[in-house]
Amino acid sequence: MILQVQDLQVAYGNIQALHGVSLEVNEGEIVTLIGANGAGKSTTLRAISGLNRPKSGTIRFQGTDITRVPAHQIVAMGIGHVPEGRRVFPDLTVRENLELGAYIARPDTFHKNLAEVFERFPRLKEREFQKASTLSGGEQQMLALGRALMLQPKLLLLDEPSMGLAPRLVQEIFGIIAELNKRGTTILLVEQNAAMALSIAHRAYVLETGRVVLSGPAAELQSHPAVREAYLGGS
Ligand code: ATP
Repeated sequence: MILQVQDLQVAYGNIQALHGVSLEVNEGEIVTLIGANGAGKSTTLRAISGLNRPKSGTIRFQGTDITRVPAHQIVAMGIGHVPEGRRVFPDLTVRENLELGAYIARPDTFHKNLAEVFERFPRLKEREFQKASTLSGGEQQMLALGRALMLQPKLLLLDEPSMGLAPRLVQEIFGIIAELNKRGTTILLVEQNAAMALSIAHRAYVLETGRVVLSGPAAELQSHPAVREAYLGGS
């Protein structure tokens, strides 16, 4: 098991966002966390990467308790996080954005990692010296993914990679995610597009108002009546 989250509680002031979330991710898996707006999906990812401090509960990464470890150390341990809304630096070039992703990487692996990212995303290579603000939404999502990959994370946390993208680009991004996983990256994927997420995930957790209400193999949840009704348009 690469990640184990136990009984996680997170509050923003008086608002309790997570009421004891537990989940596990095994090495090599794509695990998806689905749920409506405000269910607590982003909060869960932010707690794992050290951006939100939990009130209680524990987070273990490769057996080490990281619940109180600072965010920059968590990145260095091998957890990459692509936040919601992509958040690339618009005034920096594609290459500069990727360089920032590697700020803690050793210089000897920088060029190798950059070459790998460009190999995986030829469109980023073509736009290497263009400002990120000139990229399309799909290309910005690729850049955000590429930036996280510069550190060759063991576990990649993806927050709503399909947000704001046209259907064709959603397909392309999900294809890339599946490919990254095949090449060995373990992925925890937060998505509102439950149909797409369940189609590439091995297992899934359904979150409602800060609690896990269902979990299991993605294929089983795809045909679960409550999931179909609430998240797959009842079809
Ligand atoms: P979305 O898809 O809309 O991001 P989500 O499932 O990721 O939804 P969270 O963003 O984790 O949900 O939010 C969980 C709860 O915590 C919500 O009730 C939300 O309003 C609240 N919340 C999130 N961020 C903050 C914040 N910075 N301050 C106060 N409340 C917050």
